[in-house]
Amino acid sequence: MSERKGLKNRGYEAEDVEDRRSAVEEFTGAKMTTVSKFGFEPPCASKNIENMIGATQIPLGFAGPVHIDGGDAKGDFLVPLATTEGALVASISRGMSVITKSGGAKARIFGDAMTRAPVLRTKGLEHCIEVMRWVDENEGLLKKAVAGTTSHGSLVRIEKFPDGRNLYLRLSFSTGDAMGMNMATIASEAVCREIEEATGATMVSVSGNMCSDKKPAAINLIEGRGKTAVAEALIPKDLVESSLHATAASIAETNIRKNLVGSIMSGTLGANAHAANMAAALYIATGQDPAQVIGCSMTLTTCEDLDGDLYICVRVPAIEVGTVGGGTRLPCQREALEMIGCLGDGKARRLAEIVAVTILAGELSTLAAQAAGQLGSAHAALGR
Ligand code: NAP
Repeated sequence: MSERKGLKNRGYEAEDVEDRRSAVEEFTGAKMTTVSKFGFEPPCASKNIENMIGATQIPLGFAGPVHIDGGDAKGDFLVPLATTEGALVASISRGMSVITKSGGAKARIFGDAMTRAPVLRTKGLEHCIEVMRWVDENEGLLKKAVAGTTSHGSLVRIEKFPDGRNLYLRLSFSTGDAMGMNMATIASEAVCREIEEATGATMVSVSGNMCSDKKPAAINLIEGRGKTAVAEALIPKDLVESSLHATAASIAETNIRKNLVGSIMSGTLGANAHAANMAAALYIATGQDPAQVIGCSMTLTTCEDLDGDLYICVRVPAIEVGTVGGGTRLPCQREALEMIGCLGDGKARRLAEIVAVTILAGELSTLAAQAAGQLGSAHAALGR
C-alpha cells in the first residue's frame, strides 16, 4: 500500500483523502461508503489527524436546560452530548431537570493549571540536590524561557521530586483558554534546555509520568490538573420523591455503600457512579481530547440527607479542557461549543463548570435510579 503512487499521509485535499480511503478499501476489503460522507472540508482537520480517510460520526444529542450559578457559567444551558450509549442522555436530562426545578446548581473552579513533568538524569544525589538548588535560584530565568515559547501560557509553579539519579520536575502552567498540553510540552522542553545547559543534568523525557497525562494518578486526584471544580445542588424532599422516586436517605445510603465503600473495596481512584460517562459525551461533542476523561473519572461524589432534602456534590479533580486549539478547531465541535457559549477566548473556565454540573446531573440521576432499583429497566427500555 505504501508504494501506491502519490499516497501522502499528510495530504488534506479531498482527493488525497479519497485516494487513501480507496487504498485502505483495496487492502482490507472493507467498503467505507459512510466514512466517506462527512460535512466538513478535510483541510480543517490538518492539525488533528494524519492518514485521514474520512470521519467517524457519533450521534449528537442534548441535555437540559440546566440552570447554573457558577463563577463563570451563569444561566440556562442546553448541553451537547455525543454518545452511543442509549439511556445516557435521558438520564443526564432527568438529573438536569430536577436540579433546575430545585433552583439550579452552584459551581466553582478551585485550581487551574496544566502540568508537564520532565524526568532529568543527574550524576547522583549530590548533583540532584545541586540541580534542585539551581532551579530554585533561577525560577525567573525559567519563566522567561517559557515566555519565549507562548504568548498565552506562563510557568506558575515548579515542584521537585528527587529520586537519586532521577529528578522529576512537575511544572504547572497557566494556559489561558487552551487545554494546554502542546503548549506545556513545548514550554517544558525550553525549561529543560536551560537546566541542561547550566547544570549538566540530562532531560531523559519531557514527560516523566508525574504530569500525569492520560493515566489514573493520585497526584492529579490530590493536586488537580487542568481545572479542579466543585458543583453542588440541594434537591427538596418533594422533588426527590416525585421526580426521582426515591428518598434522600436511600440515595445517601446508596452513595455511601456503592460510591464510597465499594470504591475503597475495589481500589478505585475517586468515588463516583459514572463521572467518566458524562465527561466522555461532552468531551467528544466539544472537541476535547477524549483520553483525558480519565481526570474526571476520579470524581468524588458526596450525598447527604438534610432532613429529607438531598444535598449532592461532586469534586472533579482534573478537567482538562480548552475552548481554543486541539479538536475545538473542527466545525461540528465548534457548533457544539457555541451551544453553551464556550467557543474561543475567555471561555475555558465556563466550560469546566459546565462539565462539573453535567457530571453532577448524571451522578444524581444514576444514584437515584439505583436507589429506586430502576437502573436495569431504564437501560432495557432505552438502550436495547
Ligand atoms: P494547541 O492548539 O496546540 O495550542 C493552543 C494555541 O492557541 C496556541 O498556539 C496559542 O497561542 C493559541 N491561543 C490563541 N488564543 C488563545 C487563548 N485565549 N488561550 C490560550 N491559547 C490561545 O492546543 P493545546 O491546548 O496546547 O494542546 C491541545 C492538543 O494537545 C490537543 O490536540 C491534544 O490532543 C494534544 N495533546 C498533546 C500532548 C503532547 O504531549 N503534546 C498530550 C496530550 C494531548 P500561543 O501559545 O502562541 O500563545
